[in-house]
Amino acid sequence: MNIERVRKELQESALREFPNPERIGCPDSETLGGMSRRIIQMTQAQLHHITHCSPCFQTFLAIRQEMHQRRVVRIRIAAAACAAAIVLGAVIYWIGVARPAPAVQIASVTTLATLDLRPLTENRGVERERTNAATPPLILPRKHLRLTLYFPVGSDEGQYALQLLDGQLRTLLKQHVTATLQDHVVTAVAELDLSSLSPGLHTLAIRKSGDEWRTYSVVLQ
Ligand SMILES: [Zn+2]
Repeated sequence: MNIERVRKELQESALREFPNPERIGCPDSETLGGMSRRIIQMTQAQLHHITHCSPCFQTFLAIRQEMHQRRVVRIRIAAAACAAAIVLGAVIYWIGVARPAPAVQIASVTTLATLDLRPLTENRGVERERTNAATPPLILPRKHLRLTLYFPVGSDEGQYALQLLDGQLRTLLKQHVTATLQDHVVTAVAELDLSSLSPGLHTLAIRKSGDEWRTYSVVLQ
């Protein structure tokens, strides 16, 4: 005989064996309800009464049963809400990320910009101060840019590292671009999101692998 059957047997006997038609010694319904719901702490005497008074025990069990049922319903509602949230999340993800954005949207968020580095002397080493002062800075809008770069005359085709630095020369953006000869100009296209950066003077640094950095002053507007 397992413990569950023993418990059930005792429970049934308690419900059967102690009829108390006059309800002698019974707590009032509020107290009994409170004890059943564990709002009121049960004394040893009250516990003894409830387990030795069939009508009280019946009420006690009925309230416990009802509470259990409510808890099951609550858990089911929570589980359903959770499942609904997962489905909703998946739908939002699909709408926002996974679904390919229509072409018109790309056009509206990406701004085309050009930086022509050909007429500029890049700043190298000790000449940095002098050339910075002499060259008017390049200007870029603080937007998501598709930036076409025209490299200075004599630049090689190939992989270039590109960095945008702030006034304290901290790196804000890093990217690798491929420069190729197009209409006799070495040209590269970079996708740069400048929308979250602060306005003001910045430095654009470009380097072909193995070569030294060339820097250009750029003002973000
Ligand atoms: Zn009673």
